[in-house]
Amino acid sequence: MTTPLVEMDGDEMTRILWKMIKDELILPFVDLKTEYYDLGLPKRDETEDRITVESAEATQKYGVAVKCATITPNHQRMDEYKLHQMWRSPNGTIRSILDGTVFRTPILIPSVKPAVKNWEKPITIARHAYGDVYKSVELRADEPGVAKLVFDGESGSHKEVVIQNFKGEGVIQGMHNTDKSIRSFAHSCFQFALATRQDVWFSTKDTISKTYDAQFRIIFDEVFQEYKDRFDQLGLTYFYTLIDDAVARVIRSKGGFIWACKNYDGDVMSDMVSTAFGSLAMMTSVLVSPDGKYEYEAAHGTVTRHYYKYLAGEETSTNPMATIFAWSGALRKRGELDGLKDLVNYADQLEGACFDTLGEGVATKDLVALMEGITPCPVTSAGFIAAVRGHLAQRLGA
Ligand code: NAP
Ligand code: MG
Repeated sequence: MTTPLVEMDGDEMTRILWKMIKDELILPFVDLKTEYYDLGLPKRDETEDRITVESAEATQKYGVAVKCATITPNHQRMDEYKLHQMWRSPNGTIRSILDGTVFRTPILIPSVKPAVKNWEKPITIARHAYGDVYKSVELRADEPGVAKLVFDGESGSHKEVVIQNFKGEGVIQGMHNTDKSIRSFAHSCFQFALATRQDVWFSTKDTISKTYDAQFRIIFDEVFQEYKDRFDQLGLTYFYTLIDDAVARVIRSKGGFIWACKNYDGDVMSDMVSTAFGSLAMMTSVLVSPDGKYEYEAAHGTVTRHYYKYLAGEETSTNPMATIFAWSGALRKRGELDGLKDLVNYADQLEGACFDTLGEGVATKDLVALMEGITPCPVTSAGFIAAVRGHLAQRLGA
């Protein structure tokens, strides 16, 4: 390796898996170079969360990061870890510094069939993670009256429209988005499409929302002009359609594209798509900034329930696939950027070794329950990683 990978360690069961993956699957085969940031909750508390900010800044500097799942503190965690403050979600902090979009992609294996039988390739959901209903303000109209939407420009301009003349009680909501955020979202989507050679589908409800949703479509069309030539060269397409039409087409499709969604659509549709593909433990996630910086991680959390079993001395059967693929994804990207063919090959072989292992039915318990057409052999996390190591050594002739 030439440029270091930004390594963000995390919490609980995934922190345990992290070390196992490094010790068994990476360090024996790769001359690993990382800049290490411990985003485990104790360290975040000790540094007043500066470590999270520093790790995001390092990602801006170097371009590629790999992140372990981390605890987002709540009241219960405040007591459990004796925290000084209820620190913000590290993912939220990193996302806002990188101004990035999260792309979630399932890992498919032949023995776990998607609930939608014509899906052959993964569907990647890109969720716009800013604004709309997630940053809205709401009011209860508790008597008859008039609700208005008002805008006072800095220049002294004034616009207002009546939302509703209430004859009785009701509810009101005001939400917003910014051109800047929508533009960043569009750039991230097109960047990721070029990097992974997939088409982009984008959907809103611009027939009904003629100013708000229409603005998303206008900005996507504008930004796409910067990418059109590169899309043409690779034979890729950008396709806009209404959200209802998109839902129908997604269900009938074979998969193999990026579905860019507004914030709420992405929240809802990503849960539907990931469940239909099989298991949260097989879902990868990558944060892509508009200027092409990448942070790879598993989509699942720190698997707390398994961690408490581990602390009680039990061997757990936690699925390390998504965390392994976060590493392979990050190392492959680093290899591509630095022109290191061996590193790209290693990443391919590591993923191949995982598929070899699952192809023999050797799997953690979560997958055993989903496998068809194969006799599964349930193993612990350590057992799974050992089996992958065997295949990897064979593939690399090591
Ligand atoms: P979770 O860690 O994803 O686990 C939820 C359940 O899903 C687990 O109890 C387990 O089910 C199953 N599961 C998830 N990943 C698995 C794997 N790799 N192998 C096998 N089973 C797996 O979600 P959570 O329990 O809601 O959250 C735990 C902590 O993670 C929280 O503190 C939260 O803040 C944090 N979190 C972090 C991230 C992130 O850093 N990206 C994302 C989400 C949540 P069974 O118990 O039935 O086996
Ligand atoms: Mg959701």
